[in-house]
Amino acid sequence: MNGKTILVTGGAGYVGSHTCKALAQAGYTPVTYDSLIRGHRELVKWGPLEIGDICDAAAIAAVIKKYKPSAVMHFAALTVVGESVEQPEMYQRTNAGGTTALVQAMLEHDIGTIVVSGTCAVYGIPRITPITEDTLIAPINPYGHSKLMMERIVADAGAASNGSWVIFRYFNAAGADPDGETGEWHEPETHLIPNILRAAAGIGAPLQVFGDDYPTPDGTCVRDYIHVCDIARAHVAALDYLESHPGGNIFNLGSEAGYSVREVIDTARRVTGKPIPVTVEPRRPGDSAVLVADASRVKKALGWRPQATLEQQVDDAWRWVLKSGY
Ligand code: UDP
Repeated sequence: MNGKTILVTGGAGYVGSHTCKALAQAGYTPVTYDSLIRGHRELVKWGPLEIGDICDAAAIAAVIKKYKPSAVMHFAALTVVGESVEQPEMYQRTNAGGTTALVQAMLEHDIGTIVVSGTCAVYGIPRITPITEDTLIAPINPYGHSKLMMERIVADAGAASNGSWVIFRYFNAAGADPDGETGEWHEPETHLIPNILRAAAGIGAPLQVFGDDYPTPDGTCVRDYIHVCDIARAHVAALDYLESHPGGNIFNLGSEAGYSVREVIDTARRVTGKPIPVTVEPRRPGDSAVLVADASRVKKALGWRPQATLEQQVDDAWRWVLKSGY
C-alpha cells in the first residue's frame, strides 16, 4: 500500500474497473463513484463503491470529503455513437456537464490532479494515418463533440488553477483481465471483438460486417486495438508522471498496429477454434476507413509500451465471454 486514495468515476465500467485493479496492484486504494446505470456493481472489487450521478457536484464533493483522494481518474461517460446522434442533449449533459460538476467538486477541495478517459473520436475522419496528437481535431458526431468538450473543460480548469492533467485519447480498447476478474460488459454490445466472440459462442447473432468496400487491402475498416490492461497501466503511470511533471498533457493510447475487421475475425477463428458466421452489411454511418495511432508521445513521456498482441486481446476476451456469458 502506498496509502494514497484515487477517486475513480465510472470505476464500475469496462476501462474503469480494469484501472481499479491496476491501481490496487500498484498500492493505491481506488474509490469508485458510479451511477450503476451503465456500470456493474459486480465489477467493483478493488475498493469501496459510492453510488452517485456524475452531474451531481455536491454528491461528488461529499465523496471527496469522505475519502480525501490525492487525484481523480475520470471514466464516467456515455460512449455509444448511435445513441449520441439520437439523444445529443443526454451526451452533452452527462459527458460535458458531468465533467464540469467533477471539476467544480475538485476545485472546492483543492484536488489538482486528474487523468481523463478520452477518445480518438475527436479526430473524426482524419486524412492522414497514423494519427498524432497534432492531427486536426474534427469530431463528426455528438459523442465526439461531448468528449472534446470534456477535454476542454479539464484543460481550461487546469490552466486556471495550476492543475495537472493527462487526457488519454484511446483507440480501440479490447480484451479483458487475464485472470477473468473483470471484462467487457456493455448492454447493448456494439463493439467488434465482443460481437465476434458472442457469435463464436453462439450467444449472439452472426457477426455483421459493416462494409467491405472501403479503400483498405481487404475492403473492411482498419482499427488499432489495444488491450484494456495496457490502457489501465498507462493510467497508473500517468499518476507517477504528474507528480514530477506538473502541467497538462494529451496522449494517444494505441498499439500503433492496424488490423482489418476480416483480420480480427480470422484471429478469433484461430483463437476460439470456432466457425464464426458473418453477414456483410452496408457501411455504418460515421466509420473511418483507417484509424491507427502514432503513440510516440506517450511512449517517450511515460516510458509506457503496449504489451498485448491482438491474439492475446482476443484470447482474454474469449475466456471472459465463456466465463461470464456477456
Ligand atoms: N464493426 C463491425 N461489426 C460489428 C461491430 C463493429 O463490422 O458488429 C466494425 C466497425 O464498423 C468498425 C470496427 O468494426 O470498422 C470497430 O468498431 P467498434 O464499434 O468496435 O469500434 P469503433 O472503431 O467504432 O470505436
